[in-house]
Amino acid sequence: MALRALASVNLAAIERNAAALRSRLAPGVKLCAVVKADASGHGAAPVAGAALAGGASCLAVASAGEAVALRDAGLSAPILVLGALSDDELPHALAAGAGVVAWTDRFVDAVEAALNKGSRLAAAPRPVPVHVKLDSGMGRLGTRDAAHALAIAERIASRPALRLAGVMTHMATADGDREFMAAQLAVFGSFGARLRGALGPVPMHAANSAATLREPASHFDMVRCGIALYGCDPMNEDPDAAGVEPALELSSYVAAVKLASPGESVGYGRRFVATRATWIATIPIGYADGVRRALSDNCEVLVAGRPLPVVGTVSMDNIAVELGPEPLVAPGARVVLIGRDGDHRLTVEDMARRIGTINHEVLCGISARVPRRYHRDGVPCDA
Ligand SMILES: *Cc1c(COP(=O)(O)O)cnc(C)c1O
Repeated sequence: MALRALASVNLAAIERNAAALRSRLAPGVKLCAVVKADASGHGAAPVAGAALAGGASCLAVASAGEAVALRDAGLSAPILVLGALSDDELPHALAAGAGVVAWTDRFVDAVEAALNKGSRLAAAPRPVPVHVKLDSGMGRLGTRDAAHALAIAERIASRPALRLAGVMTHMATADGDREFMAAQLAVFGSFGARLRGALGPVPMHAANSAATLREPASHFDMVRCGIALYGCDPMNEDPDAAGVEPALELSSYVAAVKLASPGESVGYGRRFVATRATWIATIPIGYADGVRRALSDNCEVLVAGRPLPVVGTVSMDNIAVELGPEPLVAPGARVVLIGRDGDHRLTVEDMARRIGTINHEVLCGISARVPRRYHRDGVPCDA
C-alpha cells in the first residue's frame, strides 16, 4: 500500500556511519551518538540502537524528556543530557539515570538536593555522572571563566553522590571559520591541562560532527556526533564528501494526474498558471508533513525516477508537480522528495540550500504525521 507520506530509515546505514566515524578516531576515543530531537526526525530509539551496534558507546540528548524516552524504549547505554535542565526537569533526567552538564555551583547543589529529596529518586543510579561545561567561544551555555569551571569540577569531585564524568565545550564554527575553532580548542586544551593538574585525568569532549570530520585535534577523549551519523553532511554540502551515507528517504506517491489547459492555474494564490497544455500530478504531502512552503516553485522531486519541478504553492497537505506535455505516469507512481530513485538522488542538503537553511532544520521539520518505517538495506525491520 502506498502511504501518502513516508519516511523510511535505513538502520544499516546508521550502523555503517557510526563505524565509519569511529574508524576516524584514535584508539580509545569514544563515539557518543547524539540523538536529540528524535534523532533529527529519524527516530531516537532505533537510531540509538543502530549507532550502538556500529560502535558508539553512549548517547546524548538535549532534554530530560528525551532521556526518559530512550530508557522507556529499553536502551541501557549511558545517556548524557547536553542541554539546560530546570529544577522541574532535573529529577526526570536523574530518574532516567542520565548524566547532566553543570556550569554553575547552584546546579551542582541542585543535583545533590534532588537526589536527597523524596523517594522517587531513591533508585536513581549513583554516583550521578556530571560533566562541566566550559564556554570556550560559543557564547551560550557554560561558564567562560576557566577558574570557575575548575572550581565547579572540584565541587563535583568532592561530593560522594556525584562523579566528575567529563569536561566539555562546544564549537561555534566547526563547519566554518577554522581559526576560531582553533582558538576555542586552545582555550579548552589549556583548561584541560589545568584540570588534570588539579584533579588528575578527566575525560574531555568538544567535537560535533563537523569538528570530528574536519579537525582531529578536536577529538580529545570522545566525539559527539549527530548529523553525520544520519548520513548527512555537517558542511551542508554533499554527504558523499563526508564519507557517510544518508539513512532517511522521504517519499509519497502520485494521487492524481490531470491536464491543465493554457490559462488554468494550480494551487493557492494561482501562483502557477499553465502557458501550454501540461499535465499536473498532485502529491499528497505538504508543509504539515515538513515540505516547507518556501519550496513553492522552488524544488524538484523524483516522479517514477524522473526529476520534475514542483509548481505553484506548497500547501498543508499537497504539492503539485508539472509532468509536461505527456502524462508520463499514472496515479500510484512513486515520488521521492529526499533520497534516490534510479540514477537520481535528492539530498536533504539540496533541499535545505534552496530555502536558506541547513539539513538539520529540514530533517527536524519532518512532522509526526509522517509515519517512520525502518529497514536494513531494504529488508524491513522493527524499530
Ligand atoms: C547537537 C549537539 C552535538 C551534535 O551536533 P551535530 O552537528 O549533529 O553532530 C554535539 N554537541 C552538542 C553540545 C550538541 O548540542
